[in-house]
Amino acid sequence: MSFNNLQLIEPVLKALSIEGYTKPTPIQEKSIPAILQNKDLLGCAQTGTGKTAAFAIPILQLMHQQQQASPQGQRKIKALILTPTRELAIQIEESFKSYGKFLNLKHLVMFGGVSQFNQVNALRRGVDILVATPGRLLDLLNQRHLTLNDIKFFVLDEADRMLDMGFVHDVKRIIAKLPAKRQTLFFSATMPQEIQQLANVLLTNPVKVEV
Ligand code: AMP
Repeated sequence: MSFNNLQLIEPVLKALSIEGYTKPTPIQEKSIPAILQNKDLLGCAQTGTGKTAAFAIPILQLMHQQQQASPQGQRKIKALILTPTRELAIQIEESFKSYGKFLNLKHLVMFGGVSQFNQVNALRRGVDILVATPGRLLDLLNQRHLTLNDIKFFVLDEADRMLDMGFVHDVKRIIAKLPAKRQTLFFSATMPQEIQQLANVLLTNPVKVEV
């Protein structure tokens, strides 16, 4: 199996080749086609399996295709990736930057513990893809610096760690602000009952991928 078999567009294939990726990892092989078909996804996978690319690549491709279809469209936040830590948030944004380097999509990473000034300014300039930790996102939502009304893609990354770190209420508050019509991708290394229940509420007929 190579990336060429996954119906990926040329600018994405070119970026992957520059990254030195020659073939998809198992989670990428299973997830990319399902996400490109607009399916919800329940991924049981640890860090190190290539799960970031498994969701970032198809989201970039779908967003690029939507942008091509309506080039006059305003820049609005259409993808939200929620992740528990600043380190993960930075890594995920780096991945979007690498795989999307030949596309015209803007990304922003947002986390707490630093001034919100630069994050608010970046929001004003326009963002397509937002990678965030829950606390800072809620703060900026409550201050009305952004809305989630235009989200088409929602990724909940490391759901079990979100729970362990006590973010479950913040996460639920954020989820309550998302439009009902969206594509949801849910990743967790383990699937305890509470995570299963959250997944059941969030996902519609998900494709299940375990690696
Ligand atoms: P992740 O599980 O998303 O944290 O990714 C783990 C590491 O694998 C990251 O450093 C990625 O850059 C790398 N990686 C992801 N997909 C591939 C691939 N298909 N080929 C080679 N390396 C990859």
